[in-house]
Amino acid sequence: MLSDKSKTTSYFVGLEESYGAHNYHPLPVVLDRGKGVYVWDVERKRYFDFLSAYSAVNQGHSHPKIIRALTHQARQISLTSRAFYNSVLGEYEKKITALFGYDRVLPMNSGTEAVETALKLARKWSYTVKNIPRNEAKIVVCENNFHGRTTTIISFSSDPDAYENYGPFTPGFIRIPYNDVHALKQILEKEAQNIAAFLVEPIQGEAGVFVPDEGYLSHSFTLCKKHGVLFVADEVQTGIARTGKMLACDHENIKPDILILGKALSGGMYPVSAVLADDEIMKVIQPGQHGSTFGGNPLASSVAIAALDVVTEENLAPKAQRLGEIFRNEVQKIIPKTSLIKSVRGKGLLNAILINDTPKSSTAWDLCMALKKNGLLAKPTHGNIIRLAPPLVITEPQLLECVRIIEKTFLEFDK
Ligand SMILES: *Cc1c(COP(=O)(O)O)cnc(C)c1O
Repeated sequence: MLSDKSKTTSYFVGLEESYGAHNYHPLPVVLDRGKGVYVWDVERKRYFDFLSAYSAVNQGHSHPKIIRALTHQARQISLTSRAFYNSVLGEYEKKITALFGYDRVLPMNSGTEAVETALKLARKWSYTVKNIPRNEAKIVVCENNFHGRTTTIISFSSDPDAYENYGPFTPGFIRIPYNDVHALKQILEKEAQNIAAFLVEPIQGEAGVFVPDEGYLSHSFTLCKKHGVLFVADEVQTGIARTGKMLACDHENIKPDILILGKALSGGMYPVSAVLADDEIMKVIQPGQHGSTFGGNPLASSVAIAALDVVTEENLAPKAQRLGEIFRNEVQKIIPKTSLIKSVRGKGLLNAILINDTPKSSTAWDLCMALKKNGLLAKPTHGNIIRLAPPLVITEPQLLECVRIIEKTFLEFDK
């Protein structure tokens, strides 16, 4: 790939700046190769990846087992459409439903599409099973949520960047504060008869790794049960071992009525998302009423089987749990040595450092640039928060090496 020496970082950045829509503001590093916890740029500099493509690459870059599944299946058959059966989808459906304990799965591609699917499923269930009057169903969501980018999903976003000038918006959503059981109780007591579902992220990833109080999820779940409202968990970012359990909901021993997965479901190899539910809910959608050309294709199914196998075979969930505790402990020790860190928070290997500056300041961005120089890639979110989420295949010595990089960078920066 790198035969042409003139093709430097600035060349590739220039291409994207010139020809791509400017809907992202990337760190100026051009990645060309990845393996496990490492990525390499076009100048062959190596970095630790501490974003993992927003937790899509939990299994590490270019995992050999997932590559094998991908390449084997690509030679066999990649896309059949759901007009016909294929010889991989059923095996995948059997595997994922058994793993998460649901009757059925509805396969989609992006996380956003899976959230859309869950919303449609919840609405349809509410009209056909709960008997809410037609078009009256409400779905309760949280402040500072991130569930994707479609017009319906941004209709209930509280982030102006996400929704401004994209209206008119889809009605039927009620936004309440996150991590506030009382607010949920109030709205359910007031109008549960017309509420289909409560949609929640077990940890708000995009909002800056906001971990709710212990008991928030289980109390919310109990309230939903009491009022006949579906509990819908968006585990697109928190699921697949990232937070130290297979699902973040497992920390509170609750099984959502509807479970949404994406990102690491494919180990980052291919867009694969899924919605899981039991018969009572899933059976409300009949042939022709929802679908996707690529959803459940043999390539995606094959990749997802391998990606899930890697998570269980390599014990990534307990590993994330253990290494996450070490990571937060080690970062805690850096805090007294610098004025730059307010706190560190997270669960498993989904963590964030809160920078001691305003969200408008460039401090977090500048720190990420300095981390990049020292061989570690991370990205600020909401101005003054740096999310730190390495692939779960990282070893303890590698993690400690990264802590030293972070410490060195912060101490240099302080001077
Ligand atoms: C990333 C994300 C999505 C959207 O997934 P895409 O694959 O980008 O469409 C939805 N929900 C959560 C919680 C996410 O982190």
